[in-house]
Amino acid sequence: MNNLTHRIAVEYEKPSAFNSCSTEQAWASVPSEPNAVEREELISKIKAQLIEKNAVLVSHYYVHPDLQDLAEATGGLVSDSLEMARFGRDHPAQTLVVAGVRFMGESAKILSPEKRVLVPEMDANCSLDLGCPAEEFTQFCDEHPDRTVVVYANTSAAVKARADWMVTSSIALKVVAHLKEQGKKILWAPDRHLGSYIQRETGADMLMWQGACIVHDEFKAIELDALKKQYPQAKVLVHPESPASVVKLADAVGSTSAILKAARDMKADTFIVATDNGMMHKLRQQNPDKTFIEAPTAGQSATCKSCAHCPWMAMNDLRNVLKVLEQAGTGYNEIQIDEHIRARAKLPIDRMLDFAQQVGITSKPNVDSAITQGLGPA
Ligand code: SF4
Repeated sequence: MNNLTHRIAVEYEKPSAFNSCSTEQAWASVPSEPNAVEREELISKIKAQLIEKNAVLVSHYYVHPDLQDLAEATGGLVSDSLEMARFGRDHPAQTLVVAGVRFMGESAKILSPEKRVLVPEMDANCSLDLGCPAEEFTQFCDEHPDRTVVVYANTSAAVKARADWMVTSSIALKVVAHLKEQGKKILWAPDRHLGSYIQRETGADMLMWQGACIVHDEFKAIELDALKKQYPQAKVLVHPESPASVVKLADAVGSTSAILKAARDMKADTFIVATDNGMMHKLRQQNPDKTFIEAPTAGQSATCKSCAHCPWMAMNDLRNVLKVLEQAGTGYNEIQIDEHIRARAKLPIDRMLDFAQQVGITSKPNVDSAITQGLGPA
């Protein structure tokens, strides 16, 4: 840490295999904004480094707008986690710089083992990943051998390696419905809100790991309802990692990509949005004539988590993207996954992709059905 960053404490829930849950503390070191001159210098150096290192920048919708714009300006991508990994796999660049959180770097490496995958901050975590450690999750799975293990994309490579299926986007409902038809009982991890949503929709027998996203878990239904009354014409867009009481108030429920599509397609001028406020950049960029309002997080139990912005996503900035590029080839912030785990972690992803082909739906996240089905990666 230096004077360009400030360190903040972040509390998250860590469930255990024995149905208990503890509150743990992690941290994030959030960079300060560069001044205008430094910002321009950083951008031009990064552009030169991307060319020199045969690298491409892929950014998540929740990272700083500078990194979103730079990814697009240099031939990279701004998207959700699965699309970031898939784009990286299919792009000719041999080095991928993944601006997001660590599991996104791991997903890119699982799909592109031959490429160098760099992350600006190795300590950029995720409460879903932190709250589902592989060892305890394995124990949980071992205690329920009769259940098919289905995990969401927001998990470590080691947790994916213990899974039978990885699901994301519109395919999650179809996979769970398919497993239910086969008489399978499911063990779901790690997000309890998303899992409950799938359970309500499919009626499947699902045993849940009780993880939660620290950002989406903070949205408050009572305050959202009050805001809706203040803006009666507004449509409410909700990410399904939010509590059920918030999802219930939505006009459209879906992943980041689905929220973007809903904002473009729905006939409304004003939207209330319940997801990380990093999304506001792309929403406003794509819809300059529409108004976007952040859904309320600050209920009576408001804490420092209630800012609607992921502190780990906020760790990415121009300075650490430049640094990781300058040090490419030295091993600095390079994602490494044990080959046995990587190969095993790829199986549940391949199973999902094969199933998608069998049932005739694209393996690419389908934003139309993601809206109606309310699913998708963060
Ligand atoms: S917003 Fe939530 S799900 Fe996304 S990386 Fe942050 S903690 Fe994880």
